[in-house]
Amino acid sequence: MKSHVKAVVIGGGVVGCSVLYHLAKAGWTDIMLIERSELTSGSSWHAAGGFHTLNGDPNVAKLQAYTVQLYKEIEEISGQSCSLHLTGGVMMADTPERMDFLRLAHAKGRYLGMDTELITPSEAKAMFPLMDETNFVGAMWDPVEGHLDPSGTTIAYSKAAKKLGAEIVLRNRVVDLTQQPDGTWNVVTEQGTVHAEHVVNCGGLWAREIGRMVGVELPVLAMEHMYLGLWAREIGRMVGVELPVLAMEHMYLLTEPMPEVEEFNKSTGREMIGVLDFKGEIYTRQERNGILLGTYEKACKPWSPVNTPWDFGHELLPPDLDRIAPSLEIGFKHFPGIEKAGIKQIINGPFTFALDGNPLVGPVQGLTNFWCACAVMAGFSQGGGVGLALSNWMVHGDPGFDVWGMDVARFGEWAGLRYTNAKVRENYSRRFSIRFPNEELPAARPAQTTPLYDTMLANNAVMGDSWGLETPLWFAPKGKEPKDIVSFHRSNDFGPIGEEVRATRERVGVTEIANFAKYEVSGLGAEEFLNRLMTNRMPKTGRIVLTPMINEFGKLIGDFTIAKAGEDRFMIWGSSAAQKYHMRWFEKHLPKDGSVRIHRFDQTLVGLSIAGPKSRDLLQKLVDVDISTKAFRFMDFREMAVGGAPCMVNRITYTGDLGYEIWMAPAYERLVYKAIKDAGEEFGLVDFGMRALLSMRLEKNFPTWFRELRPIYGPFEGSMDRFIKLEKNDFIGREAAAKEQAEGPKLRRVSFIVDAADADVMGDEPIWAKVSKDFGTVEKPHGYGAPRFDNAGEEVRGSKAAEGASAVRGIIDGDWRVVGWVTSGGYAHYVQKSMAQGYVPAALADDESAGLFEIEILGHRRPARINVEAPFDPSGEKMRS
Ligand SMILES: Cc1cc2nc3c(=O)[nH]c(=O)nc-3n(C[C@H](O)[C@H](O)[C@H](O)COP(=O)(O)OP(=O)(O)OC[C@H]3O[C@@H](n4cnc5c(N)ncnc54)[C@H](O)[C@@H]3O)c2cc1C
Repeated sequence: MKSHVKAVVIGGGVVGCSVLYHLAKAGWTDIMLIERSELTSGSSWHAAGGFHTLNGDPNVAKLQAYTVQLYKEIEEISGQSCSLHLTGGVMMADTPERMDFLRLAHAKGRYLGMDTELITPSEAKAMFPLMDETNFVGAMWDPVEGHLDPSGTTIAYSKAAKKLGAEIVLRNRVVDLTQQPDGTWNVVTEQGTVHAEHVVNCGGLWAREIGRMVGVELPVLAMEHMYLGLWAREIGRMVGVELPVLAMEHMYLLTEPMPEVEEFNKSTGREMIGVLDFKGEIYTRQERNGILLGTYEKACKPWSPVNTPWDFGHELLPPDLDRIAPSLEIGFKHFPGIEKAGIKQIINGPFTFALDGNPLVGPVQGLTNFWCACAVMAGFSQGGGVGLALSNWMVHGDPGFDVWGMDVARFGEWAGLRYTNAKVRENYSRRFSIRFPNEELPAARPAQTTPLYDTMLANNAVMGDSWGLETPLWFAPKGKEPKDIVSFHRSNDFGPIGEEVRATRERVGVTEIANFAKYEVSGLGAEEFLNRLMTNRMPKTGRIVLTPMINEFGKLIGDFTIAKAGEDRFMIWGSSAAQKYHMRWFEKHLPKDGSVRIHRFDQTLVGLSIAGPKSRDLLQKLVDVDISTKAFRFMDFREMAVGGAPCMVNRITYTGDLGYEIWMAPAYERLVYKAIKDAGEEFGLVDFGMRALLSMRLEKNFPTWFRELRPIYGPFEGSMDRFIKLEKNDFIGREAAAKEQAEGPKLRRVSFIVDAADADVMGDEPIWAKVSKDFGTVEKPHGYGAPRFDNAGEEVRGSKAAEGASAVRGIIDGDWRVVGWVTSGGYAHYVQKSMAQGYVPAALADDESAGLFEIEILGHRRPARINVEAPFDPSGEKMRS
């Protein structure tokens, strides 16, 4: 075993082996995988081996597609078969709602390059004759599904990595991890210590334990800075990372050989396909001459909820048929052919999940060169993509794709052990349930609350979870239960939100905005630091700017409101969900000389926003300074007492109207809210929630972070032109942005008015245009920088798909083509229009003609028209008044 390597990968499951392979392939060959036992000694060996491309997040779906494409490559390099069976599969819908869900998934597939097809239950039965098709209303066929040999595949990755020069050390447990003052790592193992520049946690079932091993040796200099005195070193050693990951027991059963299966194979010359049955929470497929059937049961059970035993390995857990009996009952009704078969074996094994079922990948914020690739619940669908993204990140400094959906930074400190336990159980038991666009999930709530929580409940607020914080979404009328009726269509919140919007637009409204991210950047180097990170000029003292942040590739990685609060002090507001993501970037670029300090407030700073034509009159009653139009201008920042409480006030609101954001310590929030409510009475003040706020931003054509603005778009594509000051100084990504401007963006973000019926867009719907010109590929970009899908040219196609023709993907229909995709939208209540935002080829972005566009909502193509000017206050007169 070497004593020094560039990177140590901990864990020899399918994910660790994939990471090792991809690192070696990217040119890092001085790397070592350390496995505590034999390869596949965690969950990898007993997996059912199924794979598919479909995922709720289109960007994760892309990486799953890459994984499937990769198998041929690793088989060739390693000489080891993965026993790939590309059978295709169907998802069966038993209700109209589930059929709507499939229509949405199918529509997404139009620009994802997926060949899904909506088919009838009878067509599904022809491919899987063991089903009783009368239980279903429809189905979706996906040709890129199948199964493989999990152990063979893991070995194939490992052999391919070894051929490229990587070292694998078996039967050697990593027992401790210590970061040295220079950022490198001492990886302490049973066989000695390995010094490494990078450490990757691919510990699968033990990923949590590996996170907890992390300790940082603090240099003496840092001790002084941290005010921790003599104990700093010990505190540093105690750092530990509690990753939000939990193992769940999972069962599948294998039947004895079945004559029906053998007969089907013989008569058709084909294997039976995979089937996913939402109602029964069942997946099933052919395994040898019998059937494999697995369930995601409601009565699910975590495994080793606090500590994973180190002596667990190649054993299975005792089966518990009672727990899965309700699913089996439905399964046998839906697939009567299986009920008759004898059960040969029941497998019960643990595997890991993060809160939302997607992996945890990337560098852990606050640590140097400590990487994660864990909580991969579908290692054989996702392992390749995870390995590719992580190796890009480590070797090239960025993942190469929009990996937000699996970024380890997407959960905050609130996602501790108990929170994770509740959310993972909820996620597991809902694995095959529909998540409606207006559905808030209840587990582990309330986690964080502001001082106004009880008041909001008393006001009949329907609360939502905003990055772990309870936030008012809308207010139900008095006497009505404050509860969403979940639906793909307009629902019971439609009327009340309309009222909130109208009252705000015509009088004045107040809403809680504690869920925004808030930071303070200070120090002698603060302005220079921000000028280097942001595309816009920094404001003068007392003024505010809006500014995107881009990476070296010229792609959008942030969108902020920045106020200069003092000579060397800036206040920053951004997207709450991106707090760790952004802190990671800020910390990476912080000057080493200590000239800049950055502080994330989280919930130590909370906020209220008042908006509407009467908002100034209202605020004036609460402050002792002049806030007339001239004295406190649009985009001014001022510290002032509001209702007697020390506050920071921004003259800006996301409603796009006259309005203010008022920020204060939580201890003052009740006081300020009460003052606003009391003073607001004479102006007809209403409470409004996040949904009304989002409706109002739509009629102003304002974008949102993580919807319209994501790391797959350039700033000019995102129509953020006026915030990109190429001439100001050399900021990160300037060169790439200048190139995008010079060449002209390929895409443009636009707003549409949609002729919708009783359902508005939700995001990810295809945009059709009646155009003669082929705009080339309509596939949504997923990566940035140079394309890094090495084998992207060789797409895997199932038996039903015709070779590569775009018509197969359903992107051409006569003169109509899919030219783009929706990012978000909804009903703009004040202008009374259904609106959508999305991306189309730049050449079409200014064309407001009627009859040119259609947007597919729940399987129906609805006429849509580009709307360049915001329908509400297009000149910004009200906002500036
Ligand atoms: C019953 C069942 C059915 C499944 N079916 C499917 C399926 O059909 N399709 C699919 O894609 N996925 C399926 N899965 C999930 C799949 O098994 C996992 O996604 C996958 O195994 C995760 O791989 P991993 O490498 O992250 O973790 P693991 O396989 O758990 O590997 C982690 C490795 O790290 C090693 N390790 C841990 N700590 C240390 C340490 N301190 N020092 C050294 N080594 C260490 C362990 O020994 C282990 O070998 C199934 C799982 C189960 C249980």
